[in-house]
Parts: sequence; structure tokens; C-alpha cells
Amino acid sequence: MLIELKNVTHVYEQQNVMALDNVSLSIDKNEFIGLVGHTGSGKSTLVQLFNGLINPTDGKVFIDGTKINSEKINLKDIRRKIGLVFQYPEHQLFEETVYEDIAFGPKNLDLSKEKTDKRVKEAMELVDLDFEEFHNRSPFNLSGGQQRRVAIAGVLAMGPEVLILDEPSAGLDPKGRERLIELLYYLHQNYNMTIILISHRMEEIARLSNRVIVLDNGKIVMDDHPRKIFSQRQKLQELGLDIPEITLVLNKLKNKGFNVRTDLFKISEAKNEILAELRGKKNVN
Ligand code: ADP
Ligand code: MG
Repeated sequence: MLIELKNVTHVYEQQNVMALDNVSLSIDKNEFIGLVGHTGSGKSTLVQLFNGLINPTDGKVFIDGTKINSEKINLKDIRRKIGLVFQYPEHQLFEETVYEDIAFGPKNLDLSKEKTDKRVKEAMELVDLDFEEFHNRSPFNLSGGQQRRVAIAGVLAMGPEVLILDEPSAGLDPKGRERLIELLYYLHQNYNMTIILISHRMEEIARLSNRVIVLDNGKIVMDDHPRKIFSQRQKLQELGLDIPEITLVLNKLKNKGFNVRTDLFKISEAKNEILAELRGKKNVN
């Protein structure tokens, strides 16, 4: 098992807030997990436990079978393996050039100049930033979407096995969001990366993930295939969550008497379903 939590509770001592309440969870290699829940449900706390940024108050966290919260563990190794892109990661850009910012992680891994160079170039290519055009520019003079991509490239340059992103599309325009979705899909498909995506956008979650975990008040309340999750509209509403907009459209069509499935959440699937119904030759399956 790649990541395993056993009965993990996390209390922020100073405020006496229990952010996670006896959570147990296993994540396998190559899963694409959508992590959802309303604000304050414990999502950000959970993912920070995955790479040892915070320690559980109670319970155990294992990475590749090794318990990580002990003196003997080298957290550098854990953080190289498990890359975490924070919410608004561009707030953490600080170097003078794009190159230096992305190279920061690899340099800390004591990689040679040559290898660091290679890592930076590859990471910039992945996030679709032209090396020649951008490497010497100040990260502070870039657009918001470009800054976000620099920040993600900095994590990718570490060569992580697991990529965790905390609300990565927040504040991006539709085009920026679409590029980000394509990048995550590509990394999962072509690099066999395990991906954990926190997002409020159910469209993104539905399109990308093959498992959805729902947190509420520090507990896992749902953990299932996206199709199963998004077919429980009532329950999601009670948890303060949406269903994908396209699924809402299908629900409305159904209420108006069209014979369409309501358990679809990808635009392409919904399109085929609606067209088939309109043409009156829908395949029943
Ligand atoms: P989410 O990411 O789902 O919004 P968080 O993990 O950020 O949830 O927060 C879970 C709970 O822990 C909330 O009640 C939040 O106020 C509290 N919390 C989060 N970070 C801290 C912190 N650094 N200090 C004190 N309380 C915190
Ligand atoms: Mg959060």
C-alpha cells in the first residue's frame, strides 16, 4: 500500500480544533483520488499528514509500509516521493527567476547542475512553459495562471510518485482550468503518477478521478467510485456539496419527461445520451 492511515486523529492544539477524527484510509499506486468536502471538513489537514508536514495527534501514517512519524525517518525522502502543491502555491514563489524557483527542490536533493537543468526543462515542458521564453523571467511578472504553473513545475521537478494538489484550479480562468485538467490527466496516464486532487469543482473530480473520498467534519463519510458518489444527489446536498452541472442538466431533462440516464457526469457521455434520446434511437443498456 502506498499511503495508509490507521485511526488518525488530528487536533490543532492551540485552537483546540479536532480537524480529523479517527480516519483510516488506504491509497494504492496509480489511483486518481478526488478529495471533496465543504470548507473546514479537514481536506488540507489530511493531505499534509500524507507527507509528514504535520503529525497526527493520534494514530499512524505509513508510506510504502513505513511509519513516517518517527525520529528515524528522513522526511526529505518522503517529500520527494509525495509532492504537495498547496492552495495558491504562487504565494510561495520567491526566487528571482523562474529557473531558480523550479530548481529549488532538485538542488535541495543535491542533484548535479546538469541533472537539475534537465529536471527544470522537463518540468517546464510538462506545464507548457517554454524554457527559452520563461526561464530567466521573474516569477512575479507572470500572469496568475503562469505563476501557478511555475509552482506546479517546482513540485514536478522533484520527480514525485504521488502528486497532491490542494484546490489547484481555484482562481484560474476556464482556459487555465482546462489546461490544468489536461496536465493532470497526462501525468496520471503517461507517468503513472498517483494523484490526489482536492477540488470544489465536481466536474473536475468527475472527469478525472476513479475514486472519490468525501470528508465531513473530520470524518470520511463516503468513499466510492465517482459514479456511485454522484448518483447520491440528496446525500451530497446534505453534505453541502454539488453534483456536476451536466448531471443537473440530465436531472432536469428527466423531470421534463425525457428518457435520459441521470448517472452520467462527463459532458461527452451526456451529449451522446441526449442526442440519442432526441433522435429516438437510444440504445438501452
Ligand atoms: P478544509 O481544507 O477541508 O477546508 P482544513 O483541514 O483546512 O479543512 O481545516 C479543518 C479544521 O481545522 C477547520 O475547523 C479549520 O478551522 C481547522 N484548522 C485548519 N488549519 C488550522 C490551523 N493551522 N490552526 C488551527 N486550526 C486549523
Ligand atoms: Mg483546505
